[in-house]
Amino acid sequence: MTPAKYSPVTERTVLDLAALVGKSNVAVDMEKRIAYSYDEVPRFSWDREYIAEAVVFPETTEHVSAVLEYANRNRIPVTPRGAGTGLSGGAVPFAGGIVLSFEKMRRILELDKKNLTITVEPGVVTAEITKTARQEGLLYAGDPCSGDASFVGGNVAENAGGNKVVKYGTTGNSVLALEAVLPDGTVTWFGGKRRKDATGYDFAHLIVGSEGTLAVVTKIILKLLPLPGKVVDLLVPFPDVASAIDFAPRIQSEGKVIPSSIEFMDGKSIRLAERFLNTVLPYDDAGAHLVIQLEGNDPNVLADDMERIGDLCLASGALEVFVADNKTTSDKLWKARKCLAEAIMAFYPKYSLEDLVVPTSEIPKLMAETTRLCGKYGIEEANFGHVGDGNMHVNLLFPEERPDWHDIIDALLDELYDFTASIGGTLSGEHGIGLKRQKYMCRVMDGAQMELIRRVKLAFDPNEILNPGKMISCPGRGE
Ligand SMILES: Cc1cc2nc3c(=O)[nH]c(=O)nc-3n(C[C@H](O)[C@H](O)[C@H](O)COP(=O)(O)OP(=O)(O)OC[C@H]3O[C@@H](n4cnc5c(N)ncnc54)[C@H](O)[C@@H]3O)c2cc1C
Repeated sequence: MTPAKYSPVTERTVLDLAALVGKSNVAVDMEKRIAYSYDEVPRFSWDREYIAEAVVFPETTEHVSAVLEYANRNRIPVTPRGAGTGLSGGAVPFAGGIVLSFEKMRRILELDKKNLTITVEPGVVTAEITKTARQEGLLYAGDPCSGDASFVGGNVAENAGGNKVVKYGTTGNSVLALEAVLPDGTVTWFGGKRRKDATGYDFAHLIVGSEGTLAVVTKIILKLLPLPGKVVDLLVPFPDVASAIDFAPRIQSEGKVIPSSIEFMDGKSIRLAERFLNTVLPYDDAGAHLVIQLEGNDPNVLADDMERIGDLCLASGALEVFVADNKTTSDKLWKARKCLAEAIMAFYPKYSLEDLVVPTSEIPKLMAETTRLCGKYGIEEANFGHVGDGNMHVNLLFPEERPDWHDIIDALLDELYDFTASIGGTLSGEHGIGLKRQKYMCRVMDGAQMELIRRVKLAFDPNEILNPGKMISCPGRGE
């Protein structure tokens, strides 16, 4: 049902939308409406169905502008949607209305070798950008585990992280400029191809991570870097979680290198990956694995780095150091790391995938508290994540159906989120707040910050048509 402050999509609306973007770019059949109404947060997590009233597939910025101007004038909610791989319910149409899907805006517009930039539409799949840059000997550093499916527009809206954050930062670090359509249909550019900018507020990076609540992104200029000549992955089993986590920061402080990745998988995750991929990984009975990626141009320097880090691992209790220096072994290793969320979805009837981030020094405390809480509530855990940047995917798992699973998750998250905040952490490192975590925002933001978020939202979107129900609850939203 459409909340009172919004207008429903009527037959007239559908005709009007078709006139704006073409009949073939508007879908209202129930099958499509449902297919475009959920992301990778399972439907069982929600208290009710959230179904779009119409799905619109814009092909140009002009289409987006026309749809937003129309929706704003008629008070119809609009939810932008990328590939729907989100893990926070960001693309779920909380208030019904229009879902704006970017799958037809998927052109790579320019690769500018002089300025080292690539300009893309929001519906380009992340891996396409990596591939295109690579063909020119360049690196696009955004590397979420979902990169073969996610759209870059979704990456920008979530400020996606991934496997290379420890060295290159999140998606936002690669964003130089955005073409954005404001909720009233105004088209504007934030940022430019310049590498620095001290002129006014940094709106481009306010839009980054705003989860489609402030503006709709229609073009993105991304920074490119030189592609490292050689990459080596190390798979390092440790006897237990604590020794692997304690070791991770020493790679930089004592090993004197900034790896491009330091990833962590606990024993349960290792065995889940094996089962999901029907494969065998070395030392699969280890308590935890680290995956360390090193890169460089000079093979001798890289070999030295590798040896030094390998020795440090072994001197710090590692059971072995496996070197993946060719594509086959490296692919196998990364497939195991990247399949974990899907493995959980395949094997557990109920689960909650969390995305906590804490100062790296506090990860051991976070892991210990997670284990304590899972014991207290009688459920299983499998933890993996980007240990190099403090972002741990704590996963709460129910091996069997339980009618009270929702109450258990709620009670456990109450405690876990409070604990995370108490050690300087926060709710999400990369998956975002969306619909899933909005009720917990006040645990980590004080009243002044919540009020600022509300005011920024209303400054961009006074009628609150853009992705309502996400990130914060605005007064007078009407649901
Ligand atoms: C198996 C798996 C692994 C994952 N691994 C990672 C990981 O390593 N790192 C990581 O950060 N995330 C990861 N994710 C989460 C997810 O892939 C990212 O959040 C991704 O950025 C979402 O992109 P999407 O195109 O699917 O966006 P969607 O899920 O469709 O949308 C996400 C948000 O972006 C908004 N949005 C989409 N397009 C636009 C636009 N053009 N303008 C304005 N707002 C827009 C939507 O409204 C929504 O709020 C993973 C997910 C899965 C399923």
